[in-house]
Amino acid sequence: MIYLDNAATTRPDPSVIQAMMPYLTEQFANPSAFYQEAVRVRMQIDLARQHAADLLGAAPGNIYFTAGGTEADNWALRAGAEMMREKGRHIITSSVEHPAVRNTARYLASCGYEVTFLPVDGRGRVDPDEVRAAIRPDTVLISVMHANNELGTIEPVREIGMAAREAGVLFHTDAVQTFGHIPIDPEECGISFLSASAHKLNGPKGVGLLYVAPGLRPGRLLYGGSQERSLRPGTENPAAIIGFGEAARLAALRMDEDAARIRTLRQDFIMELKSQIPGIRINGDEEQSLPGIVSVTFPSVSSETLLIRLDQHGICASAGSACSAGAIEPSPVLTACGMSEEQAKRTLRFSLGRENTAEEMEETVRVLRAVLSES
Ligand code: PLP
Repeated sequence: MIYLDNAATTRPDPSVIQAMMPYLTEQFANPSAFYQEAVRVRMQIDLARQHAADLLGAAPGNIYFTAGGTEADNWALRAGAEMMREKGRHIITSSVEHPAVRNTARYLASCGYEVTFLPVDGRGRVDPDEVRAAIRPDTVLISVMHANNELGTIEPVREIGMAAREAGVLFHTDAVQTFGHIPIDPEECGISFLSASAHKLNGPKGVGLLYVAPGLRPGRLLYGGSQERSLRPGTENPAAIIGFGEAARLAALRMDEDAARIRTLRQDFIMELKSQIPGIRINGDEEQSLPGIVSVTFPSVSSETLLIRLDQHGICASAGSACSAGAIEPSPVLTACGMSEEQAKRTLRFSLGRENTAEEMEETVRVLRAVLSES
């Protein structure tokens, strides 16, 4: 198998699995209990929180574990809007957000909030000047992602964060695709809330986090006991949290080296695609991009057909479009960049990760060329 779908999820690192195993077997105590067995588990959860915080240059007290990126996004938008209710009911977001943000913003719109979905340029980038211009006296929250999951485009979060800070508006960024892959300093970027998810950095699924800036206390996500300082109650999942901590620890050690290596693989892949397959188009921003995401629009063949043919050769990629009710709908992210529906339906995303090799990328170009020449 050639796995080129690392933006969808990544393989858990063997050392993550090793770190998790004791907490799925012998060390099963409830971390809230009093006895030493439980205290040992609690200490490992605290250590995981420290590792996650270290990746952000933050204090562990600003990290709340959640059940993934979707949950963190929902919490940030709903709690952020609620915290500022007295000030107003206007929210700004972009037209290329993940459904976890887009659909939460739509839900808030159904509750009486007014939501501005800002356009992006052809590379999928939000213009910070447009964010500034969209801020009104009743604006309470801005949510713009750190990097886009379909295009890899990195958004100007620092400029947006500065605009939010100057205007006294909360700023959330969905960093699910970037946490552990490229650095981010939330304090320096004026970020109030940041979401991340373990399974995008070789950690386990079903665990993520919300970073909350010092001095802010969002409303509780759930009502229950005192876990996660009463804001996100429910018995913790120690194995998942400890696995996330290990993934974050590894990412801190490997980030620079991995990013440089993956970026080179990506550049070579793009060069080969351009030279061997006439008529293709590389989407997104070739400079301001995540190291591993390549979005390609192919001439003539639908992404559905290409995906099936690639799968027959053991190559896992994904369409830049979401499957709904059996029909492939064009991706709103791609159409927001000015692509026609027809072009969007001929677009694939290859997302490279820590384990990919130059040989795999060469093989992928070879298979693509063969498949395209047959059709
Ligand atoms: N946000 C972005 C940008 C994502 O890419 C994803 C996952 O695909 C999510 C949010 C959702 O994260 P999770 O799968 O942990 O719920």
